[in-house]
Amino acid sequence: MSEQPLHRDTLAVRAAAERSQYGENSEALYLTSGYVQPSAEAAARRFAGDEDGFTYGRYGNPTVASFEQRLAALEGAEACISTASGMSAILMMCMGLLKAGDHVVCSRSMFGSTIKLIGSDLAKFGVESSFVPQTDLAAWKAAIQPNTRLLFAETPTNPLTEVCDIRALADLAHNAGALLCVDNCFATPALQQPIALGADIVMHSGTKYLDGQGRVMAGALCSTQERVTKVFLPVLKSAGMTLAPFNAWVVLKGLETLDIRMRAQSERALGLARWLEAHPSVERVYYPGLPSHPQHQLALAQQSGNGGAVLSFVVKAADADQARARAFHVLDSLKVMSLSTNLGDTKTLMAHPASTSHGRLTEAQRQDAGVVQGLIRVAVGLEHLNDIQADLDRGLSSL
Ligand SMILES: *Cc1c(COP(=O)(O)O)cnc(C)c1O
Repeated sequence: MSEQPLHRDTLAVRAAAERSQYGENSEALYLTSGYVQPSAEAAARRFAGDEDGFTYGRYGNPTVASFEQRLAALEGAEACISTASGMSAILMMCMGLLKAGDHVVCSRSMFGSTIKLIGSDLAKFGVESSFVPQTDLAAWKAAIQPNTRLLFAETPTNPLTEVCDIRALADLAHNAGALLCVDNCFATPALQQPIALGADIVMHSGTKYLDGQGRVMAGALCSTQERVTKVFLPVLKSAGMTLAPFNAWVVLKGLETLDIRMRAQSERALGLARWLEAHPSVERVYYPGLPSHPQHQLALAQQSGNGGAVLSFVVKAADADQARARAFHVLDSLKVMSLSTNLGDTKTLMAHPASTSHGRLTEAQRQDAGVVQGLIRVAVGLEHLNDIQADLDRGLSSL
């Protein structure tokens, strides 16, 4: 009988580096910065890249390799390389792919630190960038220049859950001789696999849903074996944004439950979104799983699991000052859920983007981005839906 390829569910708990001679069932945590070489000849071959084998902790570690193999399997990628955080994965990608005079097109709804890294920090080294409206394909196309090397998108976005068409962006990039990278942090490979839709690179903050319980920082890039080995690994070796083995072990074990967590959290998110949309104190709800969402059809076609575990809503108010006071009242009335700007936890986390993640923008920029004073973001966890609703209703019904 011929061997069937294993299903993703199976790979999520099985894909890993080889077991040690002790036969441990749970993947081992290797805390070592160096490796004893079997011979001087073998060491020479390993350093030259002619033989597999670990040489130094900055370059690789078996626990880190297990995480990389497992995430690559889930994303349907040939290979993966991990980093100390999501931001250092973006830095590694840019250092590997770009040089002075190259140009990047990004959505203007990207994660705030991504906009800062590409728009300001890399600009110091001569990398040019353009930021375009997330859902406007014509604007993406118009922003492409002869020196454009990379299109970088995030879908759905934070906090308004805007969805962009991965396949259409991949075609745009490839027609221009550029690559498409997708930040798959919000949907995760459990709900969306950008490589199957034509993306060249998938970027992750493992800090969010891959860990899933808010414990450690991690990041990763998934792509072809050739790009990982020849473009990204040399940056890791010289720049050292290496993922720590302990953190790799935590996210490795997190991947085992990613699928069931994402589906359970998304189910609660859909229930909460419907309840909020019917609430008399709520002006508007942003959630890709609602028919009222502008890219609802695209979201259903491109991702599974209702629309993910993050939603945002706007409280009803007469003006911006009242909206801010009311949003604060709702958040300060929480007794069970957490007031926290993080996301991707089994605990439900709520935040006021206009005064935290988007606090440095001017009021006009915030209006432009749709981050109004009455907006509250909810990263839905695993609590019972009735308890999440009751916690929110305490503030919403006493406005
Ligand atoms: C958190 C986050 C990042 C950055 O990841 P870190 O692990 O915090 O460095 C990048 N993109 C998105 C969408 C995020 O939510």
